[in-house]
Amino acid sequence: QSKSDGRGTSRVFEAQMDARARARLTLERELRDALTNGQFEVFYQPLVDLGSNDIVGLEALARWRHPERGLVSPAVFIPIAEETGLIVPLGEWVLRQACRDAARWPGHVRVAVNVSPHQLRQRTFATMVVSALAENAVDPRRLELEITESVLLEETDANLKTLHALRASGVRIAMDDFGTGYSSISYLRSFPFDKIKIDRSFVREIGEKPEAAAIIRAIIGLGQSLNMTTLVEGIETEGQRKAVLAEGADEMQGYLFSHPCPARDIDALFDGAHPRTEAA
Ligand code: C2E
Ligand code: MG
Ligand code: MG
Ligand code: MG
Repeated sequence: QSKSDGRGTSRVFEAQMDARARARLTLERELRDALTNGQFEVFYQPLVDLGSNDIVGLEALARWRHPERGLVSPAVFIPIAEETGLIVPLGEWVLRQACRDAARWPGHVRVAVNVSPHQLRQRTFATMVVSALAENAVDPRRLELEITESVLLEETDANLKTLHALRASGVRIAMDDFGTGYSSISYLRSFPFDKIKIDRSFVREIGEKPEAAAIIRAIIGLGQSLNMTTLVEGIETEGQRKAVLAEGADEMQGYLFSHPCPARDIDALFDGAHPRTEAA
């Protein structure tokens, strides 16, 4: 009795595994074709100065417009792209698109682009970045590259050399999702970041746990003493905006000000076609 139950369960389990593995393979194949089929888009989310409410930058966020599934979240396709190595051509495409878009926008507005560990490992990465900027006549000081701890997990000389070379050319380097990894603080010693982006998981708990505000305050203080710009991610409410402003953060990013949106919406914003009604 128990034996046949067990076998039945494992058959169902295997069937599910099979279905999941097949679905995953399909997604992988579709993702590989998506780049050549022009199914990727870049959305932009404003980085906002907390004091003035001015847009000081725009973060480029990849979107996959799947013919049947609709917009697929990067939470789904970025991990697959990382595993398959597709993140290298995809990341380059995003960067080049971001440079083309930034060329139309005011010179004081930066563009922020996420960089995966795979990309940084490419020996040609720094030259590729510099040429993408030059081809679009975008000042390197307008580009901010966002890297996460996983990049520095391989704290190889080559990776650090690439980051230093980029920084020497004027590109700014930001540490993304600060506080979520195992040793965020120790990585601040290995590289002179220009900015830290404090992960939104801390902000969520503001007003619920007094520790949350205390931790944000400490990270901002740390950033300030290291001469880094501090940005707080995931600001969704006016209360959260006020709280991080009071703690002395420089910038914010979040749904309160704007969701990520297509480049043409940003064009309209700067053309003055639309009043900036979304500003808090
Ligand atoms: P990230 O770099 O930390 O980007 C911020 C993410 O937070 C975005 O998710 C954004 O839509 C979301 N977000 C912004 N404000 C709020 C808010 O107020 N509340 C909440 N709940 N979320 C907010 P998105 O666009 O889904 O991207 C997810 C992640 O995928 C990014 O996190 C980044 O790690 C990765 N990603 C996206 N595009 C690229 C890319 O071109 N290259 C690489 N390597 N990674 C990318
Ligand atoms: Mg980012
Ligand atoms: Mg982030
Ligand atoms: Mg994040």
